[in-house]
Amino acid sequence: MANHPQPEVITIGPGDPVAAVVGGVHGDEPSGVWGIRRMVELIEEGAVELEHAVRFIVANPPALEIGKRFVTADLNRSFPGDPEGIGEAWLASVICELIEDIPTLTLHATRSRPTPFGFADHDDERGIDLACRLSLPHVILGDATEIGSLGACGSVITVEAGPQGSDEACEAAFEFIREFLLATGAIAGEAPLKDPIIYEGEAEVPKPPGETYEVLAENFVKVSPGEVYARVDGEPLVADEEFYPILMSADGYDDILGFRARKVAESLSELRARQAGSSSGG
Ligand SMILES: [Zn+2]
Repeated sequence: MANHPQPEVITIGPGDPVAAVVGGVHGDEPSGVWGIRRMVELIEEGAVELEHAVRFIVANPPALEIGKRFVTADLNRSFPGDPEGIGEAWLASVICELIEDIPTLTLHATRSRPTPFGFADHDDERGIDLACRLSLPHVILGDATEIGSLGACGSVITVEAGPQGSDEACEAAFEFIREFLLATGAIAGEAPLKDPIIYEGEAEVPKPPGETYEVLAENFVKVSPGEVYARVDGEPLVADEEFYPILMSADGYDDILGFRARKVAESLSELRARQAGSSSGG
């Protein structure tokens, strides 16, 4: 029998889970796991009281143990997974079942600046609403199924909580968990709309072959046509059309510089008004 990796699952509180929180999808981003452990500790001490159960998942313990992004394959490109597969493919299928039908927050850290920001699926109205109740200045909509991220399994908000390897990311991860539990009603209290700027992810920004990379564009700051947004070995990369850079960094990925997006609304109310307008207009 194959020696399958197992996620660590802590389901705590009364009744069926109304929220799931996933950390450690990438083994070199332990801040989400720190946030989960802190929250579980506070719940067990009685310092945080749950109205409804929450499922906490440490997604990839073998990768966390070695401090690497993954062991055999990027877990966040492996969903919905394969119950007949091995390593992360199998792990993905197990995690998918654990979050089925439960609104889910998954916590990451990043090398790109600034943080934080979040992602939701563009067809997931509830998820978009929940994302807009977290302290996120930017929310990017996309199609999780296309890239094989956790959102391929259900209603998932992905948050890049803070800088990779920082205490700041740990504290931020904990704070996002607290806000998410409020927004889902798992803990009692208000979770008002924060009205982040909303973007639609469009495409990857390719990374041409080279030795040295410099990204000149700033994430979430508009790049205009004709603007130099990066340099490869000193040679300029020039934008042919307007875009908003997302997750752009010189060293974040091997094969791409990041992603491009377009701004779709300055707030959730503007987004809803626009959707209502476009659907009534046929
Ligand atoms: Zn990550």
